[in-house]
Amino acid sequence: MHHRAAAQATPNHFRRALGLAVALLAASCTPRPQQTGVTPAPVPAPAVTYTSWVTRSAEFGAITRQVYAHATDVVTRAAAGKARGSWAVILDADETVISNLTYQLERERLDSGFTADSWNAWTKRQEATPIPGAKAFLDHVRTLGGRLAIVTNRLESECADSRANFDKLSLAWDVFLCRPNGGPSDKNPRFAAVAAGAGLPTARPIEVIAWVGDNILDFPALDQSIRRQGDAAFAPFGSRFFLLPNPMYGSWQ
Ligand SMILES: [Mg+2]
Repeated sequence: MHHRAAAQATPNHFRRALGLAVALLAASCTPRPQQTGVTPAPVPAPAVTYTSWVTRSAEFGAITRQVYAHATDVVTRAAAGKARGSWAVILDADETVISNLTYQLERERLDSGFTADSWNAWTKRQEATPIPGAKAFLDHVRTLGGRLAIVTNRLESECADSRANFDKLSLAWDVFLCRPNGGPSDKNPRFAAVAAGAGLPTARPIEVIAWVGDNILDFPALDQSIRRQGDAAFAPFGSRFFLLPNPMYGSWQ
């Protein structure tokens, strides 16, 4: 039917149809003069803020799952032949196992950033959500016989609510070490405490086989100065250290 109509069309039919199409296209692209004579304001592109990539992208959830899937493979191989309860994985909490995107969006709407008071109020709400991929990893470590140590810089005074937030989300943990009120944010002493068996049922030294975090300070003896070092300094990433993306905040600021 269609091809027959086309076959019968004369060059004149064709030119008229083409002319009409061009005219319609031109009309749709040309802004019509407003009766008021006011040119409509251009529609602005959506603002890109520090939460945009986490909120809008498919890539964020893809990479967190990718990191945890890779960590699962590596830890499974590393744990082979180790006695149950003889090894552990250390994880950070915020933007590693749990997401505080809601808090970040609330602060953004107020045109404000982090404050200790607003953060404290947020932790009390216990409304952080799981980072995609985290729960499956925690469960897998448990199944393999590993211990889970959460080492976070949430304050000791915020720790009960933080543990409760994990528990609400069925996120497994064995030891949960917060930052002592007035104490150092440096996690290295707490990493050492975990290795010595602090807070674990056996209270015996334990082999830490992997660290997971979103901040360079979540990894033993590292800080931003690694940036100026060569490939060798980064070698543990992907084999013992597993990094989640956090474009919203961190020690890079
Ligand atoms: Mg963190």
